[in-house]
Amino acid sequence: MISFENVSKRYPEGHDALRDVNFTLNRGEMAFLTGHSGAGKSTLLKLIMLMERPTRGHVSVANQDLAQFSREDIPYHRRRIGVVFQNHQLLFDRTVFDNVALPLQISGYEPDDIGKRVRAALDKVGLLSKEKLNPITLSTGEQQRIGIARAIVHKPQLLLADEPTGNLDPSLSAEIMSLFMEFNRHGTTVLIASHDLALISRMGHRTLILDQGRLMRDG
Ligand code: ADP
Ligand code: ADP
Repeated sequence: MISFENVSKRYPEGHDALRDVNFTLNRGEMAFLTGHSGAGKSTLLKLIMLMERPTRGHVSVANQDLAQFSREDIPYHRRRIGVVFQNHQLLFDRTVFDNVALPLQISGYEPDDIGKRVRAALDKVGLLSKEKLNPITLSTGEQQRIGIARAIVHKPQLLLADEPTGNLDPSLSAEIMSLFMEFNRHGTTVLIASHDLALISRMGHRTLILDQGRLMRDG
């Protein structure tokens, strides 16, 4: 699903964020990406989303070399990927339903279809009963689950998360991680960046460790 071949990324200011990174993540696999702050985790995810381009090497997603994608192809590429952020980036001037519906509205789905898909997504994260509420009235853990529903509402093949449990206590973090595992069990490929080593080791999944831009361990 994802392949990095000799990938390096140097930002214009001269920082080497990634150095000669090689790995593949197979379809249906789930892995964690860890390392200290500044190790290159976000940069690696940004290369997959085409928010950044590598300085050297090749990144492929679903067997397509991302170098072939022009600026106009980027929205098409992003539709195949669901992304969950730490600060979930919800809109507090609309309902839970409308927050989750947003990606489908942008993609031009029919209203009936949007209703079905949004409710299916809210059901999967256990928030169907809260669709009419404003997300500001919900708990932090519930808000993060809305972010996850929004990320999976278009049924992406690939789900990426950047520090998805950064603001949550240990029991809520474990709850969010089991949701990701549930999506993975249903066939979604999942890659989660997190510096929470204690949580990651409890999950017992493949872990990629970055140190100053180098992939130090994969196992
Ligand atoms: P992590 O997500 O592991 O904290 P990042 O990928 O955010 O690591 O950052 C890796 C390195 O690249 C850091 O040294 C960071 O300061 C640098 N960096 C990240 N984004 C930029 C940018 N847009 N411009 C310049 N340097 C950046
Ligand atoms: P369909 O609506 O075509 O029957 P599914 O409901 O089987 O599709 O699943 C579509 C997507 O939703 C998949 O990507 C899967 O990861 C996710 N998914 C399905 N069921 C669950 C579930 N119970 N919990 C978490 N994720 C699920």
